[in-house]
Amino acid sequence: MVRNFNYIKNEVVNSNLCSRCGACVGICPKQVITFKSNVNYEPTWSSEEGCINCGLCIDVCPAKGYSLQADNKNINDISGNLGRFIDVYEGKALDNYINSNATSGGIVTAVLIYLLKCKEVEKVVVVENTEDSKDGYAKVTVTSNIETILNSMQSKYIQLPVGKVINEIRNKKENIAIVGLPCQLAAIDKASQKLPVIKSRIKFKIGLFCGFTYTQDSVEDMLKIMEVKEINLKRIVGWRNGGLPGNFTVELNDGTIKALPFIKEHSINVTFNALNRCGLCKDCFAEYADISLGDIGGWRSKETLIVSRTDKAEQILAEMVKNNLIRIKSIRDSKYLKKTVIPFMIKEKIIKTQIRNKYLKSKNITNVEWEYRKGTISKILKIESLLLYRLSLLLRNSKVKRKIFKNKYMAIVVGELIYYRLSKNILVRAMKKLEKKFLKDEDVLL
Ligand SMILES: Cc1cc2nc3c(=O)[nH]c(=O)nc-3n(C[C@H](O)[C@H](O)[C@H](O)COP(=O)(O)OP(=O)(O)OC[C@H]3O[C@@H](n4cnc5c(N)ncnc54)[C@H](O)[C@@H]3O)c2cc1C
Ligand code: SF4
Ligand code: SF4
Ligand code: SF4
Repeated sequence: MVRNFNYIKNEVVNSNLCSRCGACVGICPKQVITFKSNVNYEPTWSSEEGCINCGLCIDVCPAKGYSLQADNKNINDISGNLGRFIDVYEGKALDNYINSNATSGGIVTAVLIYLLKCKEVEKVVVVENTEDSKDGYAKVTVTSNIETILNSMQSKYIQLPVGKVINEIRNKKENIAIVGLPCQLAAIDKASQKLPVIKSRIKFKIGLFCGFTYTQDSVEDMLKIMEVKEINLKRIVGWRNGGLPGNFTVELNDGTIKALPFIKEHSINVTFNALNRCGLCKDCFAEYADISLGDIGGWRSKETLIVSRTDKAEQILAEMVKNNLIRIKSIRDSKYLKKTVIPFMIKEKIIKTQIRNKYLKSKNITNVEWEYRKGTISKILKIESLLLYRLSLLLRNSKVKRKIFKNKYMAIVVGELIYYRLSKNILVRAMKKLEKKFLKDEDVLL
């Protein structure tokens, strides 16, 4: 069989499994893959003619799944689901500006700046806020500029093709640190296995925990909810602006600032705009990173949850503590881990993904070929998860969505109902309690 982008087109893009990581575009030696638009970053042929059938685009694509060390562990084992790691910490940047303007504790930004200042790397890959909405809502940048790194703080929950930098890295001689989502770093790892030059240039990989990314429609939808016309939008100030959990905040051309609470934004976007691939994703803790970072959980404090996976990560954290740049505290003790975001992500991402993928497989629908983790899964969770999955497929249908968004209050109510309220429904809670009572091993229920 000829191995080229046609496989990706059929099995990934047309099967709605592309996470827009950008790696196929970045690795193509003939540059014959491009993005359909710089809005939704769907990859497409720019010219089939130049293709040399090298198959590299297939080799790097993470969409159909990849192996994870956590797959050897029981699905109910909290720390086992993290994959390989040395320690788990909570921590924060001691620089006040970074800590108060970052997504959570500002550890990502502090580490990037340290790596540059101590000359571990010459450039870093970040996702930068754009000053003008004409340049897109955010952009992937390779930089050594501290101002740009500071301007890149805060998570942007839209798809951004970090993997496209493979081409730039291949053609430059600098050592690089890269920040990316789990699928993006898995693609970078696949690229490193194929191209030794990528392996030798990328010196440090910072992974972000990841629940979902949204299609770029999400911005349009948020503007509708905030009653802002797109033509009046100057820029997105941030997705997590102003404290915990923060607000989706925009600046209009006349200087007005408008904000929508993160909780509202999140429930609407997860319900209506999350990528199909994200609902089938099991690598939520970024196993292919040197260090993985997430929110601590419960919006308790401006701290980052840190999973250090390699000796290099341990060394950098220790040096930064010594230099008073960060403060960290080990929370490896599994009792404390239960109070963090980790069990929530295991339930919402790993277990539900396993349920959905099994369901799609039983229907012969092309899905992600993850290994199945052993362990018992609550039957109520199975029903709830499949019900919500099928409902969100319906709600993401453009005709249905358009009807709901005719009334912004309807969109808010439906979004919150699907994302938060259904699992809190009194009937579902009662059934979960009953199930727990009659099950022999109580621990199997998360
Ligand atoms: C799409 C997305 C989903 C996430 N989902 C979860 C979740 O479900 N649970 C959880 O605990 N944590 C999640 N996180 C991680 C969390 O939001 C924080 O990024 C993490 O806590 C680190 O915080 P920080 O203050 O150290 O980062 P900061 O110092 O604020 O630095 C953030 C860094 O993230 C990079 N970045 C921002 N957006 C993107 C993007 N779209 N793609 C690649 N890089 C980007 C920027 O370049 C910047 O360097 C998610 C992050 C993203 C981007
Ligand atoms: S040249 Fe190689 S990487 Fe590019 S499209 Fe063809 S097969 Fe894919
Ligand atoms: S490599 Fe990334 S962007 Fe390309 S098809 Fe696969 S998931 Fe999509
Ligand atoms: S949920 Fe998974 S597929 Fe989606 S962006 Fe995050 S890591 Fe990629």
